[in-house]
Amino acid sequence: MARERLPICKHCGRKFSPDARNRDRQQVCGRVECVLAADRARKRKYYRKRIENEKGFQESERRRCRKAMRRCRARTKNGGMGQSAPHLPLLLSGHLFAGLVSQFVDSTDPHVIARVMDSYADRGRRLAVSRSIRGSP
Ligand SMILES: [Zn+2]
Repeated sequence: MARERLPICKHCGRKFSPDARNRDRQQVCGRVECVLAADRARKRKYYRKRIENEKGFQESERRRCRKAMRRCRARTKNGGMGQSAPHLPLLLSGHLFAGLVSQFVDSTDPHVIARVMDSYADRGRRLAVSRSIRGSP
């Protein structure tokens, strides 16, 4: 009986069993960090392509970044006084949250974790809406 060779994850380098419906195209294993890394890489590639090819997008991104840098400089100008508490880097907090959800639902299946994270985000949005209706900050 010849054993089928397992593909190697492009992110972590471990062997994995690909999903039967995506056998030929799956490049990363099902671990959350690998799926997130693959998503980031795909989005980065798409963004780079859009920046290079779409003049309108290039301009709007330039404006957006300029505005963000202006806000950032204004924030650091007064030594960051009067600003909110320091926050975790976005990347780390995303991994932390995914890890917590994974622990909470006792699963490493990215589909399950994504579904739970989506439901939490929906719940958070509903809370934000009801809070803004009441008029409190
Ligand atoms: Zn992996």
